[in-house]
Amino acid sequence: MSIKDAIKLMKDEDVQYVDVRFTDPRGKLQHVTLRHTEVDEDFFEEGFMFDGSSIAGWKSIDQSDMKLIPDAASAYIDPFYAEKTMCVHCTVVEPDTGESYDRDPRGCAQRAEAYLKSSGIGDAFYCGPEAEFFLFDDVRFSVGMNKVSFEVDALDAAWNSDTEYEMGNTGHRPGIKGGYFPVNPIDDGQDIRGEMLTTMANMGMKVDKHHHEVASCQHELGLIFGTLTTQADELQKYKYVVHNVAQAYGKSATFMPKPIAGDNGTGMHVNMSIWKDGKPLFAGDKYADLSQEALYFIGGILKHAKALNAITNPSTNSYKRLIPGFEAPVLRAYSASNRSGCVRIPWAESPKAKRVEARFPDPSANPYLCFAALLMAGLDGIKNKIDPGPSSDKDLYDLPPEELAGIPTVCGSLREALEELEKDMDFLLAGDVFTKDQLEGYMDLKWEEVYSYEHTPHPIEYKLYYSC
Ligand code: GLN
Ligand code: MG
Ligand code: MG
Ligand code: MG
Repeated sequence: MSIKDAIKLMKDEDVQYVDVRFTDPRGKLQHVTLRHTEVDEDFFEEGFMFDGSSIAGWKSIDQSDMKLIPDAASAYIDPFYAEKTMCVHCTVVEPDTGESYDRDPRGCAQRAEAYLKSSGIGDAFYCGPEAEFFLFDDVRFSVGMNKVSFEVDALDAAWNSDTEYEMGNTGHRPGIKGGYFPVNPIDDGQDIRGEMLTTMANMGMKVDKHHHEVASCQHELGLIFGTLTTQADELQKYKYVVHNVAQAYGKSATFMPKPIAGDNGTGMHVNMSIWKDGKPLFAGDKYADLSQEALYFIGGILKHAKALNAITNPSTNSYKRLIPGFEAPVLRAYSASNRSGCVRIPWAESPKAKRVEARFPDPSANPYLCFAALLMAGLDGIKNKIDPGPSSDKDLYDLPPEELAGIPTVCGSLREALEELEKDMDFLLAGDVFTKDQLEGYMDLKWEEVYSYEHTPHPIEYKLYYSC
């Protein structure tokens, strides 16, 4: 959509407000709303000044003026507001020079795409993220720590019991790992997921399916792949629609990676491929019909996986998901067949569909930074011909200890991931796609989360130690 098209859309739809949206370093969509009378061609060309100092991880109060440049191509009509509102996603620039603000995630995604082109390796990076989520009754999470601690106890007991009937009669509710995917009434999410998907389709998003996921109360909607920055925009819209349709149903959606102990966690697999001159670069005659470039790309992902974790798995809760037994990866291995490693090569019906799937990311990640960082790791693999080693086609959860010992793992905590990123960030700094200043600001935010988590007594500690 051009600027003219966006202005025409405003007239055609009798738009009253324009919602100016951008994403903060933690990945949360932020907004400010303008009366339609303030929005003309100049608004799109010259941008809009705002105070960036209250956004965590951005500028300090003494240099707070920043500028948002709306991207007309991203315009859509908001499906939730009572007043007709057009939304535009923005990139943040320095007001004096007009240059991309290095800590702006969307700008970083655009820099990654430009870097891919300048490298000569490819001209388009396609991402297909599969963001899962849980839907809970609101009341369940509007309670305090004690209730949460009770839930942990109940689930822990259920998980440790030998037979399911010890949980009692769950009626038509799916038990642990029982959600994938019997029909209703075991699946009680058909209507809400359908409304989410229809809402997305009506916003012009490309969507193809929805289903219950493995855990009880867990769901996934299918978003069709797209190029890096556009697809990160789509993922922000996906989360926005999931949260708001859930809210309208009196439910609460969460993308937190491991809300329930003892059941599957929430992943965001990212399917990826590079194209050049309209041709897929990842299809070839090597392992699993991959090209040599695709294997090197995998080599880069596996080599940098621990540093990537700080961006692709950026919450303290992320590491409660990355444990054996719940379809989430632990080992830095790749395979066409099994789903227990960090990278899987899905079967593809044609060379065009050939892609590699990173299975460790989760949807607490900032999508702009997540996709950009994965691309940078893969490009480093291609540039430096990083051999991913042999594939691992056995179920990695069942490997004997001596075989397991040889395979490196992902990080076990956000603390470890931040330490790894500190040691291994050059691959992200190539071409100034990420900058040192940006990563330092990002890591400061994440260290705050680590300290706050490490310094807070956990409900499970009461169970283990209260009576010691
Ligand atoms: N929920 C699993 C994860 O944590 C993925 C399950 C699936 O999509 N097959 O990654
Ligand atoms: Mg899926
Ligand atoms: Mg899934
Ligand atoms: Mg998948």
